[in-house]
Amino acid sequence: MKNSTYSGLSLNRCSELRLRNDEVQILKKQDNLVILPVWKGKNLFNTSDLNYVSISLQLAQELALNDEEMIFLGLDGKVPCFAINIFNENDICNLNENWEFKTLHSILNIITLNQASLLAYARGMSIWHSNSVFCGKCGMRTKSEEEGHIRKCTSLTCSKKLFPRIDPAVITLVEHPNEESCLLARQSNWPLGMYSVIAGFLEIGESLEDCVKREVAEETGIIVNGVSYQGSQPWPFPSSLMLGFAAKAENDKFSPKDDELEKIMWVSRECLKEFTEMEDAESEKKLPSKHSIARSLIDSWVNREIKFY
Ligand SMILES: [Zn+2]
Repeated sequence: MKNSTYSGLSLNRCSELRLRNDEVQILKKQDNLVILPVWKGKNLFNTSDLNYVSISLQLAQELALNDEEMIFLGLDGKVPCFAINIFNENDICNLNENWEFKTLHSILNIITLNQASLLAYARGMSIWHSNSVFCGKCGMRTKSEEEGHIRKCTSLTCSKKLFPRIDPAVITLVEHPNEESCLLARQSNWPLGMYSVIAGFLEIGESLEDCVKREVAEETGIIVNGVSYQGSQPWPFPSSLMLGFAAKAENDKFSPKDDELEKIMWVSRECLKEFTEMEDAESEKKLPSKHSIARSLIDSWVNREIKFY
């Protein structure tokens, strides 16, 4: 499968610098410094030049609770990149009439894929910080350490370290026993007419392959084998990693054990040609966004590029 959107970031994360605060402080003084503000999971965007906005160090220090809350993302060539959580949208947007906090989905077709990966990284890290202000073990406040890549409980008797959270989810293209159809389904809360492949979160004590088999069986009643890994996609909405699989169905009659899906169907390669793009608001048959691993799985299957092993 092709490289997924939000992956392939060109930036060097320079994880060795996370323990060298003196060197990071020097990087912050560079003229080419990039600081990406994030407010409630939205990235700051300039609606005039259609690019993301980097704010000055002085402004970042005025808006952040303290300097430690800046998150060191890495070096893009020689450009040091940071993210920062903003608590009041207007503190920034009032400074420039063209600045607006936007969802990543809404600007995805305007920015480059590398910019999308960078903004997704900034977004994911910022959301993790927002959701990790208190220690899950003792309830005390945590504070940012290692340039924003760890939060540590401030209770001296606890000192628990919190690491950036990633929630693995499997997403699976299921092929009919006749090899000429694949399984598509929809949830009632999805956009009108959108169909996709089967997805679900990994549970504790479960391998990825076990999870694929359980999710497909629970949601559709289909038993699968030949579970084959195809690729992955970072999905920071807010903290998922999508692990793409293909699997072969042993039966073809649907008998869902839960009510998660509104509709399930087998779709042949020929019938898939009737499906339109997500942007087609009126269509009652459309595929997931081209930026999703779900769509990559479907397209790969249509082109007979899926490898089972
Ligand atoms: Zn604690």
